[in-house]
Amino acid sequence: MEQRKYDYLIVGAGLFGATFAYMAKQQGKRCIVIDKRPHLGGNVYCDNLGGITVHKYGPHIFHTSNKEVWNFVNKFVVFNQFTLNTIATYKEKLYNLPFNMHTFHQMWDVTKPEEAFAIIEQQRREATIENPRNLEEQAISLVGRDVYETLIKGYTEKQWGRPCRELPADIIKRLPVRFSFNNNYFNDRFQGIPEGGYNALIGGLLEGTECLTYCNYIDNRSELEGIADEIIYTGPIDEFFDYRLGRLEYRSLRFEQEDLPICNFQGNAIVNYTSAEVPYTRIVEHKWFDTYNAAAINAPHTIITREYPQDFTPGAEPYYPINDERNTVLHKDYLALAKKEVPDIAFAGRLGAYKYFDMDKTIAEAMTLANREYGYKA
Ligand SMILES: Cc1cc2nc3c(=O)[nH]c(=O)nc-3n(C[C@H](O)[C@H](O)[C@H](O)COP(=O)(O)OP(=O)(O)OC[C@H]3O[C@@H](n4cnc5c(N)ncnc54)[C@H](O)[C@@H]3O)c2cc1C
Repeated sequence: MEQRKYDYLIVGAGLFGATFAYMAKQQGKRCIVIDKRPHLGGNVYCDNLGGITVHKYGPHIFHTSNKEVWNFVNKFVVFNQFTLNTIATYKEKLYNLPFNMHTFHQMWDVTKPEEAFAIIEQQRREATIENPRNLEEQAISLVGRDVYETLIKGYTEKQWGRPCRELPADIIKRLPVRFSFNNNYFNDRFQGIPEGGYNALIGGLLEGTECLTYCNYIDNRSELEGIADEIIYTGPIDEFFDYRLGRLEYRSLRFEQEDLPICNFQGNAIVNYTSAEVPYTRIVEHKWFDTYNAAAINAPHTIITREYPQDFTPGAEPYYPINDERNTVLHKDYLALAKKEVPDIAFAGRLGAYKYFDMDKTIAEAMTLANREYGYKA
């Protein structure tokens, strides 16, 4: 039988595809990576605009407690010491997130953990909710009415495009409430952003691997099908099957980017807008991800992005899967169809798996697949 040119065709040059390609190459596998976008990197791709690194598809902060993944990414890039401290603004007042003693001081003027704890307990008791039937009841039963109305309600309704009373309670399983003055958004052991952005990480992973941009698998299916023994497919699984069983649903985003001729717009990387009257959920000021880069911080201009959640319509970017019952069943049906019709194709990454994965989980999943495919050990 004629040998195919590649062992693996990897569809999608995001973090999943790039990690898998790196590992395959280490094992002597011949790989080609294709992506329909004009660049490599998928959603972690960064632009450099006038000395400022811009997270093109939304802000990306690397955080993990997985030491294997942390050691792995540190082979390719140096991480800065960025720690996410988000600010929320509601009706002209500022609050720290995640909910902690700074937030409670700003909200109720309390200074001691026991005072804040007593207020939350009182509000939870007054709400008398035993079995929360929706997200509103769930949130109030966890953190009380003030925090819910000021910091959760408007933001969540914009994010999902529906009133909290119509959203399922299990979207919020728990809400982290800290009775300490710790503003660090994440609890993970390791956190940061690669100096200069994520392109160097992707470049390191894909070094020496053949890559093609502007190449959509769907449009070039017949030429691509025969070139590799196996395919790792990180695009949407429903699109692969031409939506034969129906469309998977997503929440999408619209980004509105501005280059302002001022040095400092908001003094922080992310400011959330939690009131319903403001149509966007947050403003990102990209230079603050690069806190230790004096040239970026002191640049006489700044780049900001307003983020507007929106419905997913054909042609829009599929950002967040909606893992409700309908979509979960539909995705399982697509996986069953794939097993039957294309057993040599692995559907993976956030789109193939139809799951929100943080970056560390994406890398860990790629490691697991590489291990399953050919016994790769990091
Ligand atoms: C707004 C937002 C913010 C986020 N912030 C964080 C964060 O702070 N921290 C964190 O850890 N994670 C964050 N994430 C998650 C992170 O983006 C993912 O973990 C990661 O990007 C997943 O990588 P992937 O390779 O699976 O998918 P992607 O990055 O989406 O890559 C898939 C690639 O496949 C390509 N593709 C699709 N279909 C085809 C086709 N038919 N032909 C060719 N190519 C195709 C796409 O163009 C894309 O480049 C965030 C996600 C979003 C949406």
